[in-house]
Amino acid sequence: MAWDFETEPEYQKKLDWADEFVREEVEPLDLLWGHEQYAPLDETRRKVVEPLKEEVRRQELWATHLGPELGGQGYGQLKLALLNEILGRSQWAPIVFGCQAPDTGNAEIIAHYGTAAQRERYLTPLLQGEIFSCYSMTEPHAGADPTLFKTRAVRDGGEWVINGWKFFSSNAKTASFLIVMAVTNPEVSPYKGMSMFLVPAETPGVDIVRNVGLGGERLNEGSHALIHYEDVRVPEDALLGGEGQAFVIAQTRLGGGRIHHAMRTIGLAQKALDMMCERALSRETAGSLLADKQFVQGYIADSYAQLAQFRLFVLYTAWEIDKYQDYNRVRKDIATAKVVMPTVLHDIAWRAMQVHGALGASNEMPFMSMIHGAGVMGIADGPTEVHKVTVARQLLRDYRATEGMWPTEWIPARLEAAKAKLAEYLEHEVGNL
Ligand SMILES: Cc1cc2nc3c(=O)[nH]c(=O)nc-3n(C[C@H](O)[C@H](O)[C@H](O)COP(=O)(O)OP(=O)(O)OC[C@H]3O[C@@H](n4cnc5c(N)ncnc54)[C@H](O)[C@@H]3O)c2cc1C
Repeated sequence: MAWDFETEPEYQKKLDWADEFVREEVEPLDLLWGHEQYAPLDETRRKVVEPLKEEVRRQELWATHLGPELGGQGYGQLKLALLNEILGRSQWAPIVFGCQAPDTGNAEIIAHYGTAAQRERYLTPLLQGEIFSCYSMTEPHAGADPTLFKTRAVRDGGEWVINGWKFFSSNAKTASFLIVMAVTNPEVSPYKGMSMFLVPAETPGVDIVRNVGLGGERLNEGSHALIHYEDVRVPEDALLGGEGQAFVIAQTRLGGGRIHHAMRTIGLAQKALDMMCERALSRETAGSLLADKQFVQGYIADSYAQLAQFRLFVLYTAWEIDKYQDYNRVRKDIATAKVVMPTVLHDIAWRAMQVHGALGASNEMPFMSMIHGAGVMGIADGPTEVHKVTVARQLLRDYRATEGMWPTEWIPARLEAAKAKLAEYLEHEVGNL
């Protein structure tokens, strides 16, 4: 019976190596170049980062989620989950290990739907970590409901001409190319009338109007671009997949991206829990250690319980993806992980901050940024509410309405049925049945 929770010793060795490597070699990059992981490497950073990537390749941990034909190891999602929960501690670690968002999702769809020429032009340098990419789907007036998108692509001779606005296109300012979703046929349902395009960043008409930042960042110095696509001309072969296939492609991309975020969130929440426990054992007040106060013990126990449940669920979902090789089949569980993720990180980071007192709330500890990140997770890749709707709809598919007036589990009817079934044994029973 194959149902166990052990990691093969050989892969565990790799994970142990990764754990030490991230703490010792990669986390210093977060402190020195915290917001530059998506910027092309300058000479100094290249000297530091390239040897680290080389080391990861030597350990056979580069882009583990991809098959060998794409330069990865073909380890699949479960092994990636175990690795990602280590990498989630650090902003730079996913880059150093070749599995950072949004590039993993973008790489996956080019691998899956791209032509040989598209794969050579975009995928190869993306997988080698030489370039970054951007996924440009959300529009200023609509995000959660993609059927409302207006950006339009029209055929003109042998070219497509793209016009419209996109919002929160992450890393557009450092990306070499953008994957743009546009309406190609307004006459049919949006599910069949939108297409994806591979657009080189330097194409005339791709105008980054503002680099929107997250709360706390300086205006116009963020990473989430408002882009005006104005008469952007791309050749016919810039179409990714078939015409009208944008929704299908988006599902492939977002399914993987969401579960990868969940995997990394385990690592970040574990880091907050580690800090909470260390502080509880280090700080004394009102006659005892914080670790001896029941409120603090409650924080620790609640955090462990939340994290352990979340972790097992994410690992299970990763296992399902490997087993079925079909994101759609695992959609309910990916959406469930997406729903739970912000709350788990928020709650654990908040308790860890509280236990650290004023220091916890300061900019000398990472809790505020974790709490902020948790809020952002409830919106990016689709808001929590929408994913709850997906979970509920998928669950409801397995149920049917009752035929009569009473619920199937209505006790009087069940009791009557039980009595009828066991009548021969009940002949001599007296009592209140
Ligand atoms: C950090 C970050 C990075 C992002 N990166 C990218 C990117 O790279 N590329 C890209 O294209 N987009 C990106 N996005 C955009 C993201 O996909 C959208 O923000 C998201 O889909 C929600 O769209 P919206 O912001 O327009 O909110 P809206 O669609 O306006 O929704 C606003 C709120 O309304 C509520 N709501 C919406 N729909 C429903 C519903 N059906 N039922 C109940 N309540 C509902 C929710 O509370 C929701 O938060 C990013 C967002 C963030 C925060």
